[in-house]
Amino acid sequence: MAKALFLVDCYLKESEATVASVKDGKYVILDQTIFYAKGGGQPHDTGKIVKGDEVYNVVYVGKFLGEISHEVDHAGLQPSDKVHCVLNWERRYKLMRSHTAAHVLAALLNKGTGALITGNQLEEDHVRFDFSLEKFDRELLQAYLAKANDLFGTDIAVKWYELPREEAMKIPGVVKMAEAFPPDLPVLRIVEIEGVDRQADGGTHVRNLREVGKVELVKTENKGKNNRRIYFKLS
Ligand SMILES: [Zn+2]
Repeated sequence: MAKALFLVDCYLKESEATVASVKDGKYVILDQTIFYAKGGGQPHDTGKIVKGDEVYNVVYVGKFLGEISHEVDHAGLQPSDKVHCVLNWERRYKLMRSHTAAHVLAALLNKGTGALITGNQLEEDHVRFDFSLEKFDRELLQAYLAKANDLFGTDIAVKWYELPREEAMKIPGVVKMAEAFPPDLPVLRIVEIEGVDRQADGGTHVRNLREVGKVELVKTENKGKNNRRIYFKLS
Protein backbone atom coordinates (compact mmCIF):
# COMPACT_ATOMS: atom_id res chain seq x y z
CA MET A 1 0.00 0.00 0.00
CA ALA A 2 1.48 3.30 -1.10
CA LYS A 3 2.17 5.84 1.59
CA ALA A 4 -0.42 8.64 1.28
CA LEU A 5 1.82 11.62 1.97
CA PHE A 6 -1.07 14.12 1.59
CA LEU A 7 -2.75 12.75 4.72
CA VAL A 8 0.20 13.85 6.83
CA ASP A 9 1.30 17.00 4.98
CA CYS A 10 -1.44 18.63 2.89
CA TYR A 11 1.07 21.24 1.69
CA LEU A 12 3.48 18.86 0.00
CA LYS A 13 3.68 20.07 -3.62
CA GLU A 14 6.49 17.82 -4.89
CA SER A 15 8.03 14.52 -3.93
CA GLU A 16 10.28 11.74 -5.10
CA ALA A 17 8.75 8.31 -5.60
CA THR A 18 9.44 4.89 -7.06
CA VAL A 19 7.05 3.19 -9.46
CA ALA A 20 5.69 0.08 -7.76
CA SER A 21 3.62 -1.26 -10.65
CA VAL A 22 2.03 -0.27 -13.96
CA LYS A 23 -1.18 -1.66 -15.44
CA ASP A 24 -2.11 -1.32 -19.12
CA GLY A 25 0.74 1.15 -19.55
CA LYS A 26 -1.16 4.07 -18.04
CA TYR A 27 -2.24 3.14 -14.51
CA VAL A 28 0.65 3.73 -12.18
CA ILE A 29 1.06 2.80 -8.54
CA LEU A 30 3.85 4.51 -6.61
CA ASP A 31 5.54 3.58 -3.32
CA GLN A 32 4.40 6.94 -1.90
CA THR A 33 2.24 9.71 -3.33
CA ILE A 34 1.25 13.35 -2.94
CA PHE A 35 -1.75 12.89 -5.27
CA TYR A 36 -5.17 12.77 -3.61
CA ALA A 37 -7.39 10.00 -4.98
CA LYS A 38 -10.99 11.02 -5.72
CA GLY A 39 -13.25 10.21 -2.79
CA GLY A 40 -15.04 11.57 0.27
CA GLY A 41 -16.50 14.42 -1.77
CA GLN A 42 -13.10 15.71 -2.84
CA PRO A 43 -11.97 15.49 -6.49
CA HIS A 44 -8.68 13.88 -7.48
CA ASP A 45 -5.51 15.88 -7.89
CA THR A 46 -3.79 16.49 -11.19
CA GLY A 47 -0.15 17.21 -11.93
CA LYS A 48 2.78 15.40 -13.42
CA ILE A 49 5.12 12.50 -12.90
CA VAL A 50 8.55 13.23 -14.32
CA LYS A 51 11.18 10.67 -15.23
CA GLY A 52 14.34 12.25 -16.55
CA ASP A 53 13.21 14.46 -19.47
CA GLU A 54 9.92 12.65 -19.91
CA VAL A 55 6.79 14.25 -18.45
CA TYR A 56 3.71 12.13 -17.77
CA ASN A 57 0.62 14.17 -17.04
CA VAL A 58 -1.54 12.79 -14.25
CA VAL A 59 -5.10 13.05 -15.57
CA TYR A 60 -6.97 11.04 -12.93
CA VAL A 61 -6.25 9.54 -9.53
CA GLY A 62 -8.55 6.92 -8.07
CA LYS A 63 -8.61 4.17 -5.50
CA PHE A 64 -8.62 0.67 -6.92
CA LEU A 65 -8.46 -2.42 -4.73
CA GLY A 66 -7.19 -0.31 -1.87
CA GLU A 67 -4.36 1.22 -3.88
CA ILE A 68 -3.99 4.75 -5.20
CA SER A 69 -3.80 4.51 -8.97
CA HIS A 70 -2.49 7.40 -11.10
CA GLU A 71 -3.71 7.51 -14.67
CA VAL A 72 -1.10 9.17 -16.88
CA ASP A 73 -1.58 10.49 -20.42
CA HIS A 74 0.79 8.06 -22.10
CA ALA A 75 2.59 4.78 -21.53
CA GLY A 76 6.28 4.41 -20.76
CA LEU A 77 6.73 4.21 -17.00
CA GLN A 78 8.12 0.93 -15.70
CA PRO A 79 8.26 -0.69 -12.26
CA SER A 80 11.29 0.49 -10.23
CA ASP A 81 11.54 3.78 -12.15
CA LYS A 82 12.62 6.67 -9.93
CA VAL A 83 10.31 9.60 -10.56
CA HIS A 84 9.64 13.15 -9.41
CA CYS A 85 6.03 14.09 -8.72
CA VAL A 86 4.63 17.61 -9.00
CA LEU A 87 1.10 18.61 -7.99
CA ASN A 88 -1.11 21.06 -9.82
CA TRP A 89 -0.99 23.12 -6.65
CA GLU A 90 -3.34 25.89 -7.79
CA ARG A 91 -6.16 23.38 -8.19
CA ARG A 92 -5.35 21.51 -4.98
CA TYR A 93 -5.07 24.63 -2.86
CA LYS A 94 -8.52 25.81 -3.98
CA LEU A 95 -9.89 22.39 -3.04
CA MET A 96 -8.21 22.62 0.39
CA ARG A 97 -9.73 26.05 1.02
CA SER A 98 -13.16 24.84 -0.14
CA HIS A 99 -12.97 21.66 1.90
CA THR A 100 -12.20 23.50 5.12
CA ALA A 101 -14.93 26.04 4.31
CA ALA A 102 -17.44 23.21 3.84
CA HIS A 103 -16.58 21.77 7.27
CA VAL A 104 -17.11 25.16 8.92
CA LEU A 105 -20.46 25.70 7.24
CA ALA A 106 -21.56 22.17 8.11
CA ALA A 107 -20.58 22.69 11.74
CA LEU A 108 -22.40 26.03 11.99
CA LEU A 109 -25.57 24.71 10.33
CA ASN A 110 -25.51 21.56 12.39
CA LYS A 111 -25.00 23.43 15.65
CA GLY A 112 -27.49 26.18 14.87
CA THR A 113 -30.32 24.26 13.23
CA GLY A 114 -29.66 20.57 13.83
CA ALA A 115 -29.46 20.10 10.05
CA LEU A 116 -27.80 16.90 8.95
CA ILE A 117 -25.39 17.18 6.09
CA THR A 118 -26.36 14.57 3.52
CA GLY A 119 -23.88 15.29 0.78
CA ASN A 120 -20.92 17.42 -0.01
CA GLN A 121 -19.21 17.56 -3.38
CA LEU A 122 -16.27 19.85 -3.96
CA GLU A 123 -15.44 21.02 -7.45
CA GLU A 124 -12.57 23.24 -8.48
CA ASP A 125 -14.82 26.31 -8.80
CA HIS A 126 -17.68 25.62 -6.41
CA VAL A 127 -19.01 23.41 -3.62
CA ARG A 128 -22.33 21.60 -3.73
CA PHE A 129 -23.73 21.07 -0.30
CA ASP A 130 -26.84 19.03 0.62
CA PHE A 131 -28.55 18.99 3.97
CA SER A 132 -31.90 18.17 5.46
CA LEU A 133 -33.80 20.95 7.18
CA GLU A 134 -37.51 21.65 7.20
CA LYS A 135 -37.54 25.39 7.74
CA PHE A 136 -35.16 27.09 5.41
CA ASP A 137 -34.83 30.31 3.52
CA ARG A 138 -32.20 32.22 1.68
CA GLU A 139 -31.94 34.84 4.40
CA LEU A 140 -31.20 32.26 7.07
CA LEU A 141 -28.58 30.71 4.86
CA GLN A 142 -26.97 34.07 4.13
CA ALA A 143 -26.74 34.60 7.88
CA TYR A 144 -24.83 31.31 8.25
CA LEU A 145 -22.53 32.19 5.40
CA ALA A 146 -21.88 35.55 7.06
CA LYS A 147 -21.02 33.74 10.32
CA ALA A 148 -18.67 31.45 8.41
CA ASN A 149 -17.03 34.45 6.73
CA ASP A 150 -16.48 36.01 10.15
CA LEU A 151 -14.61 32.88 11.19
CA PHE A 152 -12.55 32.97 7.97
CA GLY A 153 -11.36 36.39 9.08
CA THR A 154 -10.02 34.94 12.34
CA ASP A 155 -6.84 33.09 13.21
CA ILE A 156 -8.22 29.66 13.97
CA ALA A 157 -5.92 26.67 13.61
CA VAL A 158 -6.89 23.56 11.67
CA LYS A 159 -5.14 20.34 12.68
CA TRP A 160 -5.31 16.73 11.57
CA TYR A 161 -4.25 13.69 13.54
CA GLU A 162 -5.15 10.09 14.13
CA LEU A 163 -7.22 8.70 17.00
CA PRO A 164 -8.17 5.15 17.90
CA ARG A 165 -11.60 4.50 16.44
CA GLU A 166 -13.22 3.92 19.82
CA GLU A 167 -11.99 7.25 21.15
CA ALA A 168 -12.85 9.10 17.94
CA MET A 169 -16.43 7.85 17.90
CA LYS A 170 -17.01 9.45 21.32
CA ILE A 171 -16.57 12.94 19.87
CA PRO A 172 -20.03 14.51 19.48
CA GLY A 173 -20.82 15.10 15.81
CA VAL A 174 -17.63 13.45 14.58
CA VAL A 175 -19.65 12.07 11.68
CA LYS A 176 -21.57 15.04 10.38
CA MET A 177 -21.45 14.29 6.71
CA ALA A 178 -22.64 11.20 4.94
CA GLU A 179 -19.53 11.37 2.75
CA ALA A 180 -17.30 11.25 5.79
CA PHE A 181 -18.67 8.10 7.32
CA PRO A 182 -15.51 6.51 8.62
CA PRO A 183 -14.37 3.25 7.10
CA ASP A 184 -14.01 0.24 9.33
CA LEU A 185 -10.47 1.00 10.45
CA PRO A 186 -8.91 0.75 13.93
CA VAL A 187 -7.60 4.32 13.63
CA LEU A 188 -9.46 7.32 12.26
CA ARG A 189 -8.04 10.55 10.91
CA ILE A 190 -9.61 13.54 12.59
CA VAL A 191 -9.68 17.04 11.14
CA GLU A 192 -10.09 19.56 13.94
CA ILE A 193 -10.98 23.21 13.42
CA GLU A 194 -10.14 24.58 16.85
CA GLY A 195 -13.26 25.40 18.85
CA VAL A 196 -15.47 24.91 15.77
CA ASP A 197 -15.51 21.31 14.64
CA ARG A 198 -13.98 17.87 14.86
CA GLN A 199 -14.71 15.55 11.97
CA ALA A 200 -13.53 12.13 10.81
CA ASP A 201 -12.14 12.97 7.40
CA GLY A 202 -9.60 11.84 4.84
CA GLY A 203 -9.45 15.09 2.87
CA THR A 204 -6.90 17.86 2.52
CA HIS A 205 -7.34 21.10 4.47
CA VAL A 206 -5.70 24.46 5.09
CA ARG A 207 -3.86 25.06 8.38
CA ASN A 208 -5.63 28.26 9.36
CA LEU A 209 -9.14 29.55 8.66
CA ARG A 210 -7.68 32.79 7.34
CA GLU A 211 -6.42 30.87 4.32
CA VAL A 212 -10.00 30.18 3.20
CA GLY A 213 -10.57 33.83 2.37
CA LYS A 214 -14.27 34.50 1.84
CA VAL A 215 -17.11 32.42 0.44
CA GLU A 216 -20.29 33.47 -1.33
CA LEU A 217 -23.59 31.84 -2.16
CA VAL A 218 -24.10 30.84 -5.79
CA LYS A 219 -27.61 29.40 -5.64
CA THR A 220 -30.02 27.38 -3.54
CA GLU A 221 -32.39 24.59 -4.54
CA ASN A 222 -35.12 22.68 -2.77
CA LYS A 223 -34.95 18.96 -3.45
CA GLY A 224 -38.16 17.76 -1.88
CA LYS A 225 -39.74 18.54 1.49
CA ASN A 226 -36.69 18.65 3.75
CA ASN A 227 -33.81 18.33 1.34
CA ARG A 228 -31.89 21.48 0.56
CA ARG A 229 -29.07 21.96 -1.86
CA ILE A 230 -26.82 24.97 -1.97
CA TYR A 231 -23.88 25.93 -4.11
CA PHE A 232 -21.21 28.23 -2.79
CA LYS A 233 -17.80 29.27 -3.98
CA LEU A 234 -14.63 30.96 -2.85
CA SER A 235 -14.87 34.71 -3.49
ZN1 LIG B 1 -14.57 16.58 4.60
